[in-house]
Amino acid sequence: MFEKILIANRGEIACRVIKTARRMGIRTVAVYSEADADARHVRLADEAVLIGPAAARESYLVIERIIAAAKATGAQAIHPGYGFLSENEAFCHACDEAGIVFIGPPVSAIRAMGSKSEAKKLMEAAGVPLTPGYHGDDQDPARLQREADAIGYPVLIKAAAGGGGKGMRLVEKGADFPDALASCKREAASSFGDDHVLVEKYITRPRHIEIQVFGDAHGNVVYLFERDCSVQRRHQKVLEEAPAPGMTPERRTAMGQAAVDAARAVGYVGAGTVEFIANQDGSFYFMEMNTRLQVEHPVTEMITGLDLVEWQLRVAAGEPLPLAQEQLRIRGHAFEARIYAEDPDKGFLPSTGRLVHLAPPAENLHVRVDTGVEEGDEISPHYDPMIAKLIVWDEGGDAAASRERALARLLQALADYRVVGVANNVDFLARLAACPAFANADLDTGLIEREHAYLFPAETAAPAEVLFAAALAELLRERALAEKRARRDAHPASPWHARDGWRLNAAARRVLRFRWQEQEVAVSVAYLPSGGYRLEYAGGAVSAHGELNPRGLLRADFDGRRLDATVIAAAGRRHVFVQGRAWVLAAVDPLHHAGEGGGAEGGGGWQMRAPMPGKVIALVASAGARVEKGAPLLILEAMKMEHTIAAPAAGTVKAFRFGVGDQVGDGAELVEFEALAE
Ligand code: ADP
Ligand code: ADP
Ligand code: MG
Repeated sequence: MFEKILIANRGEIACRVIKTARRMGIRTVAVYSEADADARHVRLADEAVLIGPAAARESYLVIERIIAAAKATGAQAIHPGYGFLSENEAFCHACDEAGIVFIGPPVSAIRAMGSKSEAKKLMEAAGVPLTPGYHGDDQDPARLQREADAIGYPVLIKAAAGGGGKGMRLVEKGADFPDALASCKREAASSFGDDHVLVEKYITRPRHIEIQVFGDAHGNVVYLFERDCSVQRRHQKVLEEAPAPGMTPERRTAMGQAAVDAARAVGYVGAGTVEFIANQDGSFYFMEMNTRLQVEHPVTEMITGLDLVEWQLRVAAGEPLPLAQEQLRIRGHAFEARIYAEDPDKGFLPSTGRLVHLAPPAENLHVRVDTGVEEGDEISPHYDPMIAKLIVWDEGGDAAASRERALARLLQALADYRVVGVANNVDFLARLAACPAFANADLDTGLIEREHAYLFPAETAAPAEVLFAAALAELLRERALAEKRARRDAHPASPWHARDGWRLNAAARRVLRFRWQEQEVAVSVAYLPSGGYRLEYAGGAVSAHGELNPRGLLRADFDGRRLDATVIAAAGRRHVFVQGRAWVLAAVDPLHHAGEGGGAEGGGGWQMRAPMPGKVIALVASAGARVEKGAPLLILEAMKMEHTIAAPAAGTVKAFRFGVGDQVGDGAELVEFEALAE
């Protein structure tokens, strides 16, 4: 076995590989970019080597730097993870040249499966069932259109070199084909440097079912059963599970055998995934093979009880596969949910920032969290905004009963997941897991679109208990602060320290104001002699008392009814986690007018801050200009998207703090703005 390996990746997959290597007594070398100097994978590894600036093009994708790091540290093998260089022929070749073991398939297998068209030709010859379509070399638009007409609409145009759900166009009718082809080729050329396309029959209501395969250097190939990755948005996986609901033993054997045939046809060694598209009737077609460890491999680990990274390391070291096909068994059911820093309500726009509060569910036999970040870490704009993968497992009764139990685990774990500091998809995932179609395993790739109304419910008001929890937490926090000050003070009895509503010339009553979405909501507070509070909101009232710990855990009592919640104060907001959901309230402080987030009302002066780190790409208004409310002032590019910073009111642009091309940090003041007096 190797003594030392290098991991040519970052984030959760790098951390996950380090964990297995450590258990096997193998030393680990991390590589990192300047943006990742303090990243979790660097903290976990035995050694770490800086390989360049933040941009992946200049660090994680630079083959020579990674090979040099391996040589300098004496690493005998390189694990590529997924993404980055994991399916890169040149990288695999460079490892061979340098005498370093590439933990993955031989370069010939990567090449064979690198093009979806070439792969389909090979699979055709190996007798693997193919999605009907055209995957020939003739790229003449007229020829491609004739093929599409012959296949019958709808068809899907796919970049042969595509991946990650990019470079695909659905074409509903012949008249739309030429434009779709041109735009697909443009995207393919810019994203993959290759505009070769294939055309496939578009399968309606399909399921995405993939088979995990494993080969060794001694000619053994096995399959580790299937994963169902049908729940997708924009052809990208969101929730995955194993085994696939409704799979019969006969079909499992047939798909497993087809996948093994595919792997054998290219002399496959190591971990790989053969992806199939399946009709509702169970018929299935080869789609592509991914020649690497897949993001969703943990669900396979949970149902087989195996460590796939350990298998990868053993196979790469020349050992035979640890188990034969007949020794492999499925036990129970597993789900994986991809927790992302993205805003589902804004078209899943990626979000960046510091994870000011991060409380994942506790890990145990049933719950696993694979992550590359901890509380206090940053989600940067440079890489994939994944926060973690949440994996759950359970068993009991038949396959359907196991799934039901595992689903209950998933719902509980999502309800317990608390993230503050970046927009995230935890609530969205919880609604998705709870939606009837998913619960009933009525799966296909259109599920998210079809369930839109359920997944994005229109909400008109925040529930009273959310406001009561926020208000109570505020009051308890104030009280704790006042007590702390009083303890430090020489005159603890001074009325100036009390925060029990006592004020000079004021009644023991006040109003706490919050903003939820666009509405301002007010909770009125009366201080009770008992030390509790009487809270009123939207016509309802409760008598409240409780305890708040420094991590924001609130144990509340409302009219004798107990309610547990978490309330985190961060950047002028109150994040209330109650009954498995998160609510974000802005705290409106009538005494405090300083700018915050996008700016704040009052006083006429505004500070307009960057919503995320990025680059100024245009100044639209000029300094000194009078503008109307909503007029664009400057454009920021962040996370590959443009964000327009607009005037918050009619007024004057006093000054710009940055010029075109400048890099700005999260929260940096961009514009000095003076609103017109009303
Ligand atoms: P598939 O390609 O079948 O969708 P996955 O869901 O495993 O397979 O991966 C999604 C795509 O995004 C893959 O091409 C993978 O290489 C890429 N990818 C996922 N996460 C990252 C990451 N953190 N960094 C770079 N690439 C990534
Ligand atoms: P990528 O390399 O981007 O992962 P795939 O070929 O694996 O590309 O396709 C990604 C997704 O697109 C699939 O999981 C499936 O949801 C959808 N898809 C691909 N081919 C078809 C098809 N012929 N009909 C319907 N949907 C398809
Ligand atoms: Mg795919």
